[in-house]
This record gives sequence, C-alpha cells and structure tokens, in this order.
Amino acid sequence: MPALALDGQWQSLLMQAPAGIFLAKAGRFLFVNQRLTHMFGYGLSEMVEQISSLSLASPRDQALVLSRIRKRKVGAAEPPYDIQCQRKDGSLFDARLCAVRLSLMGQDVDLISVIDITETCEALKLAQSQAAALAQSEQALRMSQFMLDKSPIPILAIDELGHLRYVNEAAAQLLQYDKARLELMTIFDVAPHRRLDMWKESFKTLQRVGHKTLPSDWRKADGTVVPVELMASYLAYNDASLIVVYAHDLSAQLEAQEQAFRLAHVDDVTGLPNRQFLQERVRSEGHLAIQEHRHIALLSLTVNEVRSVNETRGYTNGDTLLMALTRRLVTVLRGTDILAHLGAGEFVFLLTNDREINEDSAMQVVRRIMEAVASPIHFESEHISVTSNIGVVVFPQDTDEPDHMLRQAPAAMRMAGAKGMDQVCFYTPQANARIGERLAREAALRHALSRGEIYLQYQPQVDLMTGGVIGLEALARWRNDLLGEVPPREFLSMAEDIGLMIPIGHWILKSACEAAVRLQREGIPSLRMAVNLSAKQLNQPDIACTIESILMQTGLDPHCLSLEITEGMLMDNLEHVASTLNDLKSIGIEIALDDFGTGYSSLTNLRRLPIDIVKIDRSLVPDVTAATQDVSITRAIINMAHSLQMKVLAVGVESEGQLSLLSANQCDQMQGFYFSPPLHEAELLQLLKDDKRISDESLGRKCRQRTLLIVDDEDNIVSSLKRLLRRDGYHIVTANSGPQGLQCLAQFDVDVILSDQRMPGMTGVEFLRRTKELYPDTIRMVLSGYTELQSITDAINEGAIYKFLTKPWDDERVRAHIQEAFRQKEMADENRRLDRQVQDANQELAEVNRRLGQVLASQRDRIFREETSLTVARDMLESIPAPVIGLDEDGMIAFMNADAEGLFEGSAALLGMHVDDVELPDLAMLWHQKDGRFMDIDLKGMVMRAICRPMSGDKQSRGSLMVLTPRMDRIDGDGHVI
Ligand code: C2E
Repeated sequence: MPALALDGQWQSLLMQAPAGIFLAKAGRFLFVNQRLTHMFGYGLSEMVEQISSLSLASPRDQALVLSRIRKRKVGAAEPPYDIQCQRKDGSLFDARLCAVRLSLMGQDVDLISVIDITETCEALKLAQSQAAALAQSEQALRMSQFMLDKSPIPILAIDELGHLRYVNEAAAQLLQYDKARLELMTIFDVAPHRRLDMWKESFKTLQRVGHKTLPSDWRKADGTVVPVELMASYLAYNDASLIVVYAHDLSAQLEAQEQAFRLAHVDDVTGLPNRQFLQERVRSEGHLAIQEHRHIALLSLTVNEVRSVNETRGYTNGDTLLMALTRRLVTVLRGTDILAHLGAGEFVFLLTNDREINEDSAMQVVRRIMEAVASPIHFESEHISVTSNIGVVVFPQDTDEPDHMLRQAPAAMRMAGAKGMDQVCFYTPQANARIGERLAREAALRHALSRGEIYLQYQPQVDLMTGGVIGLEALARWRNDLLGEVPPREFLSMAEDIGLMIPIGHWILKSACEAAVRLQREGIPSLRMAVNLSAKQLNQPDIACTIESILMQTGLDPHCLSLEITEGMLMDNLEHVASTLNDLKSIGIEIALDDFGTGYSSLTNLRRLPIDIVKIDRSLVPDVTAATQDVSITRAIINMAHSLQMKVLAVGVESEGQLSLLSANQCDQMQGFYFSPPLHEAELLQLLKDDKRISDESLGRKCRQRTLLIVDDEDNIVSSLKRLLRRDGYHIVTANSGPQGLQCLAQFDVDVILSDQRMPGMTGVEFLRRTKELYPDTIRMVLSGYTELQSITDAINEGAIYKFLTKPWDDERVRAHIQEAFRQKEMADENRRLDRQVQDANQELAEVNRRLGQVLASQRDRIFREETSLTVARDMLESIPAPVIGLDEDGMIAFMNADAEGLFEGSAALLGMHVDDVELPDLAMLWHQKDGRFMDIDLKGMVMRAICRPMSGDKQSRGSLMVLTPRMDRIDGDGHVI
C-alpha cells in the first residue's frame, strides 16, 4: 500500500511514466509505480511494506547510493548516475538513476526514476570491445600490408575488369615497373595474350573452384618475356571480389631445364640434335608412322674429309669444316624433317615430311644433299672439295622396327662407301635394284633431248557445235632404244625431279608452235595448239617473255596457242599464278584448266583467273551406265563454266554414248579416242586434209525427224501406239523395258518419250527419273492403266514427268498430247540454241572488247612515247649550235630554232609562211631541191653552207629539215664567193 496518498493527477502521471519510479524517505518506499515492481520482480505491497529502497541497489553499489542520498540532503545538484540494481531473484541489471528531493505534502521525499540500461550498456561494452578489436586489426592490417609489400613472392590483386588493384614490390620488380605505375595498369598490359572476355571467363571459373595453378608468360617493361607459374585464388570481401595471383618466376628453372636438355640432346660442335635426341625421335616418329600408315626414312651421310682434316690440321679446323657443312645441310631440310650430327662428320636425316616417302622421294633429298655439299668449301684460304656417301632405309618398307633403322642406315652408308666416293645405297637389295633402274632411266633422260628421243604427238580437239577439229593437244613422248616408250607422266615427273623440266618444256613449246605453223603452211586453217605447262615452267619468273619470244621466233599467232595448266598448280601460290596468267592472256594466249574436277577448287573460286577453257577430267565424263548424280555433277560444271563465260572441253571421250550425253548436256568441245588417239604429225595432217569430223547424227544435231520413244513391256500396246502415231510422221523407236529404253536414248536423239508405268525390273517412273538426269531436255510422259498415285505425283512434282496419260486411251487425245509435247520440245531447243548463240556472242564481244582495250592502251602508250620523244627532239633541235628550219610537206615553215631566229631577225613572222613567200630565193631553191646535198646559198649577202633533207621516216613526218652553217666568206655581186 502506498504510504503516501498522492492526488489523482500525480498518481496517474507517475503510474504511466515510461520508467520505474518511486518516492522514498529514509530508505522506506512511500510510492512505487507498477513499472518499478515489474522491473524488480516484487509485488506492490511487498515492496512498500517489506523492503528498503536501498536493497534495489546491488551490494556493490549500495555505498554509492548512500553517498548520493547524503549529498542530496545537503541540497547538492545531482546528475543522473548509473548503478547495478538487484532484482528480487538476485539477478543484476544496469540502471540509470535520476533522483530529486521534493517537498511533498509537507515532507522531504526523494523522487527517483530507474531506467533499465542493460541493452545500452551491452551495446557500449560491445562498442568498446569492437573499438579495441578494431584498433588491434588496423594494426594487423598495416602489418599484413607491410608483409605483403615486402613479400619476396610477386603478388597481384586483379579485379573482374583486369585492373591491377594491388601489386607488391616483388611483382613490380619482376615486371620492372614502378609499383605505383603498375597499379594503374591492367593484366592485359602484363599478359598481352589475354583478352577481357577470356579474363572474365577465368574469373568466373575461379569463383567456382576457388584457386588454380597455371603457367603464363608476362611481358616486362622492356618488352622481354618472363615465364611464370601463377597460383590464382578467388577472394571476395564486402561486395567486391578480386583474384589474387602469386607468381613464381620460372626463368631460371626453364633455363636450367633447357641447359640440361641441350647438354643431353645437342651436339656441341654443330648445335644440331645429337645421337640421343635422334634415337628418341626415330622411336616416336616410327610409332606415329605405324599409327598413321605412312612411311619415314633415315638417311645416313658421312663426309669423308672430316676425319682427315681432324687428323692433319687438328680438331679446331675439323670443327670449322663441320660448321660449314652444317650450314649447307640445313638448307635441305623440309618441314618436319630432322638433321642430327652423330660426331666425326656423320650426319643423319630423319625424313618425316612426306606422307608417302619411297625410294624416289628419298632420292630427291639425296640429290639435294649432294648438290649442297658438291661445291668446294672455302677453308683457310683454300678450297676443299668434299666427298660423301649416303645410306638410306625406309620404314616400314625395308625394316620392321624403327630402332633398327639406326643400324641399317649406317650399314647402307658403308655399302655405299665400299662402292666408291659419292655413292648412295639403300638398305635392301630390292630397293637398290629399283633405284639402280631409276638412276639408269634418269641418265638416259639426260641425253634424250640431244639424241632426238623426245617427240610430240597431237590429239585433235573437236567442236561439238560443228563436229569439226578446232584444236590440237601436243603430247610429249619419249622413245628410248633400251627402255622403249616411257609413259609421259613417268618421264615428265622424272624430268621435274632431276631439273630437266625447263629445257624439255621449252623444247615442247617451241616444237608445238613450229608444228602449228607447218600445218598452216600446208593449208590447214588456223587451229589452236594446246600445250601442257608444267608447274616448274609456270613458276619461272620470265615465263611470259620466254613464250612471247618462242611465238616471235616461230611466227605463230598468239591466238593460236593455248596453255594448259592443272588445278594443282593453282594451290600453292594463287596470286603469283594469277599474275602470270594475266601476262600470258594479255599476249593473246588462251588459258585452259586441265584435269578439272580432280582437285578441290570450285569454278567460282577460280573466276578471277583468266581461264578460257575448262577441261573436265576423264573421270567426270559420264556414260549411259553412270550414276545419275555423276551426270548431275558434270552438268553442273558445264552450266557453271558457261555462266562464267568459259568453254568446256571433255577429255577421254571413248564412246558414242559419252558423246551423246555430253552433247545433250551442252558440252562445247571434246577430245578422245572416239574421234582420234594422239597422232604423229603426218597422220594428223592426213586427218585434217580429209576434213574428218563428227557427224551431225552423232552430235544429235541432224535436221532430223521428230523422234518418239515408246517404252512398254506389252508388244500389242507398242504396236497399236505405233500404228496410231505413224501417220503423224514421227520417227518411232520402241523398247520393252527401262534398260532397253536407255540404250535407245544413247543410240537415237529422242525428243519425246511415252512410257508405260508398270514394267518388270524398272518402273516407268524410275526409268523417266533416270532419263531426266541423263537427257534432261527430253519431254517425258507416262501412259498407264495403273495409277500408283504417290510415286507418280512425286515424279510429276520433281519434273521427271511432263504428262500422265491413262490407259485405255482416247486416240485423238493421245495424238494431241504428243503433238503438243513435240512443240514444247522444239520451243525449248530453239530457246537453248538462242541462249548459246547469245552466250557465244557475249564471249566474242568480251574478247573483242578486251583486245580493243589492249589496242587503245598500246596506242595511248605510243602517243605518250611519241610526245616525249617529240619534246626531246625539239629540245635537241633548239640546242643545235646552227640555224635549223623545219618545213612541212607543202613547204610551210613550221619550226625555227633559236639560232635560226637569230639569223633572220624578226623571224617570228616567218613561222607559218610558205618558203616561196619569204623573199629568200636561195632558201626556196634549197627546199625545192631537197636532195640532201650541201650547197652554198646567199642569205641577204651572207654565205651559208646549207642542206635540206626530207624527213624520210614514217608517214607521220613527211616534212623536211634545213640546216644552215655560216661561212666566213661572202658572195660578190656576180654570185661568186669572195
Ligand atoms: P593430259 O594433259 O590430260 O592429256 C590427255 C591424256 O589423255 C593423254 O595421255 C592422252 O593420250 C589421253 N587420252 C586422250 N584421249 C583419251 C581417251 O579417249 N581415253 C583414254 N584412256 N585416254 C585418252 P598421255 O599422252 O599419256 O599424257 C598423260 C599426261 O602427261 C597428260 O595428261 C599431261 O598431264 C602429261 N603430258 C603429256 N604431254 C605433256 C607435255 O608436253 N608437257 C607436260 N607438262 N605434260 C604433258
């Protein structure tokens, strides 16, 4: 119960106060509010009646409370103070007390408010402890930063955009940058091979996996590269993330490794791989060769003079010789080949560069090695000639184990040494026999030209529009008494290998041009002479000049020469080939692309080359038995070539079937045994004199009857259709099956086909589909009682069938349909003919334009040159120290040099006057005489030795030139010189 009765207003105010409040006097509670009782866990009356107000303070702070009460008694001002209070249950809490002495109802009482400040105190304590920790961690941070800065390991922190956010001193030192400057750079400045997208990707990966070790190359400030191993870790703090990179400089380690490798694998005299390196490579290359089904070869070479130089002049000189040899031998290496030095002048080539190395290709390398060491080596002011022996072994052709090659090649080399100096031996007798044979052939080929064993044959090329011969291909032949006829591909590739292709190619070109001129002299109208050009010839820098001079020597019109190049020649150096071909084209020579279809080039890729004719390879010349897609390929090539204004010549045409297919597919020209094999010149002359040609029938261009092919397995149907349609005047051909129908198509030039659908072996639709591929211009119809709807609709939709007629048929309707089909066919034929004519005309026009362009260009050139020489001539005439006068063919004075102007004062007026009007009769006489002899004339009393000559030259300069030389004497009144 409250010991003090407060009025209602006071009571409610204190009761609702947000703090615990009590009134006390001498340690007794006079009033307590509810909040206070809750705060301390007492009941209201319990508090007022049973406990002292001092007991609210913890025993620790009761002295403090008493001292405050004492101060209060003496009226001292009292600020709030904090103590520890104790609840009824003994638990303690922090509280802030505010006390004030009041005089209430006549007595002095203390009004005390109690606020629980536990939370505030805890927060404060926490703040204090955090402040302490912060102070500690700041110190730690400074410490770690210092340690990072001074760490001997290069450390960088990089953000997601690649900016270097932190670098330590070791990193700056490694990269040779100032630390502050480096921190302004990006990782891309340090590792230029990195890109932002790659970096972002790595960033994400590291975020996922945490850390990673990787090798890299960093660029230092001086531009040199340092190899490093990087440990990169992902680090996220607050809302930023970084990659921290610890770098380990690998330079020293790599150098040591390299040094160790070099010591173990490199020959210290020559710097070439040594025996150990070679052994390892032979083993690994051997296993690769087995896996990839290819060959490798080992070539052992000993230079005989190295030993004697070592013995007689000492090892230093021996080493100098080895170095000189090494410099020459490395020039022989191609691509992946390896050259090793095993010591004492024994070198080994490991040949791995070719897919199919064999004796022939190994011999090419042998030749190049021999060439490389052939010329004497300049050595101590003298020249030493060296000799060598070579042994060759090819794996797996000659041996089963790659390792064995290392014994077998030196064994073969010793066999070569036993035969003499500069000898070559293969490991197996069979290889030696083959190579012996080849060497004998090569030796024979070297003399073939001088012994007249090489000659030419000529194969006619026929125009499929006219059926007449349009050109000839010159084909080289070699006949040797011992070897017989050697196939051209064989001896020409041998000629390439032994460096004879240029002289042989030159001879072929010249002989072919001479033959063409001889044929013209025999009265054969100009034919194109096609000559194959080898890659070696085409790559000659002055090939266009060489050919131009052959044309001039032989007198052959450049337009009668065609040069054939193959697709393969375009592969290596298209730019150079294009410029050579353009040079040749500008001379007027035609360019043909041979073997088209055997390589990978497409015509569209070649359209920038000045190619006039595409020769489609024999393998692409279709027959009636060819698969339909083969015919489509040929047709596509023909169409594409035509669209690029190129003509198409089919090579290797052997049968009428091939010819009719080519003709039906608009091929322009052909060459092949069907018309003629390659011939000797005399036989060819006879063929040309006989005007042999392909008949119009064979070309399917005869002025022929409309031809109808009826295909039906039932004879009675064939007969009744024949009876019905004969009256329309068609040439009717019949067949009982699809295959028979195809034979007829090869034999006859069919316009319209009427085929049954249901036939054994091949249905009508199948037959017509195939016909569409082989003879696309035919009009194809089905006449059938059987309607297998799907296949027929498909065939109609894809254009294989023009019309579908049903059995039994209405005679008149069938006749009308067939007449309509012929009309269609003739219209299409006419269109195609016109189209070709337009194409040909366009092509001719393009050629004429091209030539016109050339003529204009050369005229411009000439005018320019003439203008230049005119200026030069004028200047020269001006500076001649004698009066010179130029007159046109009518005698008008057109030119006077400075001396002439000086001679005739005020002479500017003379220019443009006729010489007869000048009032100098001697001058006029001189001009009329124009005999080129000196005479003395009188010019106003002055004696001049004068000469007047007509300008003989070309039509453009028909005037005359006078030169006057003053004489010291004068002429008297009688005309005598005094
Ligand atoms: P090529 O330029 O494709 O010559 C056409 C080859 O096809 C010739 O073979 C010719 O005899 C042959 N041939 C022609 N019509 C038919 C035929 O209907 N059926 C068959 N099966 N073959 C036919 P040849 O004379 O053996 O020449 C082969 C290759 O040798 C030529 O192919 C050409 O690449 C090269 N060649 C020939 N003479 C020379 C030449 O003077 N110089 C160069 N660089 N190469 C030449």
